[in-house]
Amino acid sequence: MNMIIPFSPPFIDDEVVEEVLHTLYSKWITTGPKVAALEQEIVKLTSCASAICVNSWTSGAILMLKWFGIKEGDEVIVPAYTYSATALCVLHCGATPVMIDVDEDFCISVEAIRKAITSKTKAIIAVDIAGWPCDYDALNALINEPEIAALFNATSVKQGLLNRILMISDAAHSLGSRYGGEAAAKRSDVTIFSFHAVKNITTAEGGCICLNLPEQFDITAESRYLKMYTLNGQTKDAFSKAQGSGWRYDILFQGLKINMPDICAAVGLAQIRKYETELLPLRKQIALLYSERFKQHDWAILPPLMDEKRESSYHLYPLRIKNITEAQRDLIIDDIVITGVSVNVHFIPMPMLTYFKSLGYQMKDYPIAYHQYACEISLPIYPQLTAEEIAYVISSVISAVEKQLDVVTESSTSNTVVNV
Ligand SMILES: *Cc1c(COP(=O)(O)O)cnc(C)c1O
Repeated sequence: MNMIIPFSPPFIDDEVVEEVLHTLYSKWITTGPKVAALEQEIVKLTSCASAICVNSWTSGAILMLKWFGIKEGDEVIVPAYTYSATALCVLHCGATPVMIDVDEDFCISVEAIRKAITSKTKAIIAVDIAGWPCDYDALNALINEPEIAALFNATSVKQGLLNRILMISDAAHSLGSRYGGEAAAKRSDVTIFSFHAVKNITTAEGGCICLNLPEQFDITAESRYLKMYTLNGQTKDAFSKAQGSGWRYDILFQGLKINMPDICAAVGLAQIRKYETELLPLRKQIALLYSERFKQHDWAILPPLMDEKRESSYHLYPLRIKNITEAQRDLIIDDIVITGVSVNVHFIPMPMLTYFKSLGYQMKDYPIAYHQYACEISLPIYPQLTAEEIAYVISSVISAVEKQLDVVTESSTSNTVVNV
């Protein structure tokens, strides 16, 4: 009998519902106390100096690139293997995304970055794919190397203050990831989370900017400025105006309007309170079980989950199959989906997408990204999965893969043409 197993449904329990109802009954639904409480939880979870919630990862990234003064003529280094928002935020600022290939562990290649850095490079956006942190020790060492630092050409006040390439982490997948005994979020100048509906914690749509800027920056002042930036550059938010602190306000600069509403924050707030104690351990348990079962098959390439320095946030379980083509991977997915299990591919490398092709990016320049993509299948992984469902996913995947590999062996032994 078929089970129906969705790919990544949001975690909605009674506490989430109550927190949202509380917000509704309070009659304060836009940015206010729930957003402040969520920001506090994020600071507590990550130990970052400051957290500023916004309405998506994408708008948070645009904000931080603009904050740093990135504009036309500037370059920002991004991996080719990521969701397109990682590059689109750069284009929205008028700057050029310089795409780099990844390594076998999905992370951006540090050696390839070194070759791509020019005097126009203003920032690097590293992506913690599936929740697996990039090699931040190597990345931070690279941007601080004297020859690399000497290339940096500051063209804004913030750039002058930092005086080197800005390290941004696309942590859309990696809330809760660990690096060297602390939150991986602490390893970049700026770490941005996504709370989109499919992420480990969701606010339906949303994101959060965490600051770990070096000591020459006044974090309190930068946070206040960034908050204002999310609210049209307005001196007073609606909540403080409603608290009787006066009707008069001013607009100080051309801000964006990307604040997170309280009604959204309420969803994430109820989830994050049980993240480290319940939700994250359940994800980890599923990932470890998948790895335990798939490692018995020599066709499986297991995703990195833990090493002596890092631990994943188990956002995705990107299983890879050895020695298959993209077409075979697609057939395996078809066979898994027929059994009622929804799977996904993370990611279609950006140079394969129409818009990026039209800008001149070519897939042949990113052989490792292509190889990861061609043999990758992301399996369902979320706290609500039951033991029975997990067992069902595992057996669906194994039968689909082995059917495909059998077809290949038969065709190579009997020399018959297989219609793939
Ligand atoms: C989801 C995602 C984003 C975009 O997040 P939004 O909150 O939807 O803007 C960016 N980068 C990666 C790697 C993602 O998976």
